[in-house]
Amino acid sequence: MFKRILIANRGECAIRVIRACSELGIESVAVYSKPDSHALHVKKADQAILIGPDPVKSYLNIHRIVDIALKTKCDAIHPGYGFLSENPEFAEAVVNAGITYIGPSAKAIAGMGSKTAARTAMLAAGVPCIPGTEASLKDADEALSTAREMGYPVMLKAAAGGGGRGIRRCDSDQEVIRNYEMTQREALAAFGNGELFMEKCIIEPRHIEFQILADSHGNCVHLFERDCSIQRRNQKLIEIAPSNYISQELRDKMGKVAIQAAKAVDYVNAGTVEFLVDKNHDFYFMEMNTRLQVEHTITEAITGVDIVTQQIRIAAGEKLKFTQDDITLKGHAIEFRINAEDPQNGFFPTPGRITRYFSPGGPGVRVDGCVYSGYEIPPHYDSMCAKLTIWGPTWRHTVTRSQRALNEYDIRGVKTTLAFYRNIVKSDVFMGGQFDTGFMEKYPEFLEYKPYEAREDIAAAVAVAIAAHAGL
Ligand code: ADP
Ligand code: ADP
Ligand code: MG
Repeated sequence: MFKRILIANRGECAIRVIRACSELGIESVAVYSKPDSHALHVKKADQAILIGPDPVKSYLNIHRIVDIALKTKCDAIHPGYGFLSENPEFAEAVVNAGITYIGPSAKAIAGMGSKTAARTAMLAAGVPCIPGTEASLKDADEALSTAREMGYPVMLKAAAGGGGRGIRRCDSDQEVIRNYEMTQREALAAFGNGELFMEKCIIEPRHIEFQILADSHGNCVHLFERDCSIQRRNQKLIEIAPSNYISQELRDKMGKVAIQAAKAVDYVNAGTVEFLVDKNHDFYFMEMNTRLQVEHTITEAITGVDIVTQQIRIAAGEKLKFTQDDITLKGHAIEFRINAEDPQNGFFPTPGRITRYFSPGGPGVRVDGCVYSGYEIPPHYDSMCAKLTIWGPTWRHTVTRSQRALNEYDIRGVKTTLAFYRNIVKSDVFMGGQFDTGFMEKYPEFLEYKPYEAREDIAAAVAVAIAAHAGL
């Protein structure tokens, strides 16, 4: 087993890996940018080394990060998610330095990293894909003729896309022409690659993804699915496991296809195969994420498998200690991404100082966060400041427990998505499990709530607590 692991990430993601290291008796080395000097991952790791002054470029500085790992005598590097986690050059640089990369091979990352290359590999492996172009589009003219042939609506997508960016639905010739350049520009700016391809737009689909684990001895299992249909601008907000939309039969079938997809690229370590499921319950491969995912916590909750620990064990060359039949589903889990964003202002990020932070607790409640009272959320990064993962034995209990935990959660100083989630979990459509990727647009009423400054119930509860504490 490794002695010391460097974590090439920040925020709750870095803390998640630090916790796994600590439980395995492995020392952790954090890296950070100057603006992150007061970040929690810096305090929680056994050692923390400054990469440089730049807020974002620091975490993307392959040379410097590998150099720090060598200097601190780390024998492995965990990339986390985002940043360098899906960069084959990073995986290669780590391995070339004689350090173990906790993730798949550079070849598997590259093979799945381009959505067009992945589609080609998956079609060859007999995995059902969303109907679309295999190669990227030459220009707007080709996009137009392809769209007409395919029939509207279509999706224009960046081959290198991620994080919900570089995806546009087009319903007409005019929209294809208008969106082509815009999407290309956005893809170039975000991913340094303007390649676009086209897919048929699946109407009101469910986003259902399978977590897989593959060791270096040829064993591959899946840990069931997550329903990530509740999204905004193609980016997940709330994730649920298992999905209420698929039968046991379909679950088994999709799980087998997910393993088939992973095996087709000789995949080793943890990964996620994303599918869209349409109204007829037909499913299509969308992409594979070759890393740990934000929402892995709900899978941990329903299977009892610690995915990060498994990633480390697999990278160390261990065999999986369980087979597919050993993995069972227990209860239900929901993850809420608590973002420093103002839902009532177009989810605009709200960096700034947290003046008060009380996190919920009690049975079935897990918080993976990186903020605290007095912490100043820097403006440079992803706005997610905590993940609330709720487990319950039944769906109903999981939802009522979510209501309870979200009510306990109190974050002041910056606006967050908490109040918005409180509205969602008390709605009948959520309890009824009736949602697809169009959920947010369909129910604008979830945005109707009083900002916390105006919430008399919370103010009253706080006053009672203060009075009780003072012995009044
Ligand atoms: P997940 O399914 O894990 O939510 P996402 O695609 O939403 O996957 O991305 C996970 C995290 O990585 C998010 O915090 C997102 O902002 C970040 N991310 C994704 N793609 C990129 C990218 N190309 N560059 C920088 N950050 C990214
Ligand atoms: P990313 O790499 O940004 O995660 P994905 O290809 O996984 O991009 O797509 C993200 C989301 O965009 C999906 O979960 C879905 O809501 C929507 N989407 C993508 N492709 C299609 C499609 N062909 N039809 C309908 N929705 C789609
Ligand atoms: Mg995706």
